[in-house]
Amino acid sequence: IDMRFHIMTLFPEIFNSYMNESIMKRAIEKGIIDCKVYNIRDFSENKHKKVDDYPFGGGAGMVMTPQPIIDTYKHIVETNKIENPRVIYLTPKGKVHCQEIAKKLSIEEDVILLCGHYEGIDQRVIDMIVTDEISIGDYVLTGGELAALVVIDSISRLIPGVLGQNESFEDESFENNLLEYPQYTRPRVYEGMEVPEVLLSGNHKKIDEWRREESIKITKERRPDLLDKK
Ligand code: SAM
Repeated sequence: IDMRFHIMTLFPEIFNSYMNESIMKRAIEKGIIDCKVYNIRDFSENKHKKVDDYPFGGGAGMVMTPQPIIDTYKHIVETNKIENPRVIYLTPKGKVHCQEIAKKLSIEEDVILLCGHYEGIDQRVIDMIVTDEISIGDYVLTGGELAALVVIDSISRLIPGVLGQNESFEDESFENNLLEYPQYTRPRVYEGMEVPEVLLSGNHKKIDEWRREESIKITKERRPDLLDKK
């Protein structure tokens, strides 16, 4: 196994369906990635299995308490014998996720992901165990689960063997800070709309040129900030 994901969440079911379909499922079956989900509530020492409480200082909403999270974390690290664990807290306050971060994370062996809920988690948890805070964009979700799936998916497809030969990411958007050129498949003419002639020419040099030009054009239009990075 090249990468083991360990997810700490209050809603483990969310991960079952996504990780059991399509490319994620195949990657797990091939033994390239592994995904273990831990229910934080199972580790609560409270007799009612409580995992949240009112915020000190007042204000709306509930905050997740440290004990169940830290005990979940200790369990993960001990049972999987992880040294220097990388612990990602999904939060709108984090660094905004991107292909570059996904690439950096894809060389790890174990990644622990912490999903918040309600108003978030007690800051002391972050200070104690979190190594990276990641946001998936400038908006607020109800929980970190979707964000964790986004991060897991974007990392997984970069691990060798997860994508098949026909699903390479080398030409894809964000490689070389360019957005991808337009793609076409059969039929050649659909509702009177034709596939660009050059793609049918069989001339690979010309095709590469056309694709590069289209990439630059669309990147200029939509994401000039990427071209500035080049
Ligand atoms: N009170 C927090 C704030 O203002 O920063 C927002 C808490 S949010 C309602 C609940 C949980 O959803 C967070 O703890 C976090 O795990 C997750 N979450 C929400 N938006 C997110 C985003 N853009 N990226 C990653 N995780 C997010």
